[in-house]
Amino acid sequence: MDRGFFEALSPDARVELLCRLHALAIEQAEKLARDSTNSSRPPSSDGPFAPASGTSAGAEPPSTAPSASPLAPEPPARSGRKPGKQRGSKGIWRCEPLQAERDENHYPTLCAACGTPFEMWDRQSGHSAHFVLDLERTAGVIRIACVRHRYHALECACGVQTAARPGVGVLSTVPGRSRDLLLSEACLVGPALATFIAALSVRYHVSRAKIREFLAVWFGVPLSVGTLDRCIREVGVACEPVVEDLLGDLRQAGVIHADETPWKQHGRLRWLWVALSSSTAIFHIGSRQGDEIRDLIGDAFLGWLVSDGYGAYRKFKKRQRCLAHLIRKGVALAGGLNPRGAHFGTWLLREMRGLIHEVAEGTGARILNPMLARLKRACKLHRDDDAEKVRALAREILNDWTAITAFVTNPDLPATNNEAERALRDAVIARRISNGTRSEEGSAAYAATLSVFETCRRRGIEPWQYITNLLARARKSLPHISIPLPA
Ligand SMILES: [Zn+2]
Repeated sequence: MDRGFFEALSPDARVELLCRLHALAIEQAEKLARDSTNSSRPPSSDGPFAPASGTSAGAEPPSTAPSASPLAPEPPARSGRKPGKQRGSKGIWRCEPLQAERDENHYPTLCAACGTPFEMWDRQSGHSAHFVLDLERTAGVIRIACVRHRYHALECACGVQTAARPGVGVLSTVPGRSRDLLLSEACLVGPALATFIAALSVRYHVSRAKIREFLAVWFGVPLSVGTLDRCIREVGVACEPVVEDLLGDLRQAGVIHADETPWKQHGRLRWLWVALSSSTAIFHIGSRQGDEIRDLIGDAFLGWLVSDGYGAYRKFKKRQRCLAHLIRKGVALAGGLNPRGAHFGTWLLREMRGLIHEVAEGTGARILNPMLARLKRACKLHRDDDAEKVRALAREILNDWTAITAFVTNPDLPATNNEAERALRDAVIARRISNGTRSEEGSAAYAATLSVFETCRRRGIEPWQYITNLLARARKSLPHISIPLPA
């Protein structure tokens, strides 16, 4: 149908056609306005820019958000109540005392007053003790043991008593939280069990409530949701200093992949960034501004950056633009209704796929250069096309030409950013299940744990064993051991 077709129609036929087009337009508009609040679609299918149902009243949608449809109902007002147990409500406590299967004794080594080493015959003068539940792994067996740790006090010849004490690590504070998080050995949950809980949450996407049920049913160990949450945070706090090391490692790399995806933090829109090399992966939750990626990669980075076309990446000089994004746009055009667009889309697909194939085969410039020339010609022919999508794609490719074709002259560069997109995949599934994180500390803990986990995997190290040691050392204020680089 074009202008001539409408002009040739009789008035009656034109009215009839108009009514049908009108009905079709309404149907399509209604289909577009469907989301989780007015249809049976799941909330995870809602776009990232729509305000979440739990959004606090103060959180403004970002300026890039399309205006909300007037049909959408107001989200329910927040009660102003904090999540979790309310002040003054009845507590839950252990209904039977813990039974230790063995004792572990800790003695002071030096007198606190005069520094004399203690001898085994020095007089004992009492002790303190606490229980620790910890995970024990032996071949084919996984169990939770309850151990009583006894801290003894000894009396020196100088008359001063010295007591052994459980180790203490860093204190993590969050404004407005009723109790700060102190890493300490005097903790009911041992490092291996705490790491197991964090693995269930971060890696296997199990909710706090289900981890609680799982431990109670399969191990007979009831732990409160608060205790589980604390373990997940502790693992994150222990991982954070390692991420500082990883930043240094990442900046040494020759090729870095970067990508970002929307993330919810207490109902507010944040972005989860990933920057990775072949042996290092760093995740970060923050805003979508360019500073975030520059803080990760650094201004002095000399290698290549592989990314999509988002503006924040364009500040980097040596860049490879992901061709998969452009190919997807080409596929949409090739399958569209506009014949010129379909022609342009097919042309683009042929040249771009051909380039990727020939570069992978190691073909020389004699074949590659004519392909590049044809690709450029296709874009130049269409940069002033009537259809906006065709025009936009042609200009996009011409404007970013060096970054799009960098892989042709640098065979070590991958033509797509699949590496980074694959690394984000797991977090995207987690977001759909958990709807993001609740606080700044929770986001930092999640990103740090993911970074250490993914880096260990890339370096061939068993991640959870490494994190268990990390947490055990952090609880004693011992410096962490960096993740060894592959030889
Ligand atoms: Zn002494």
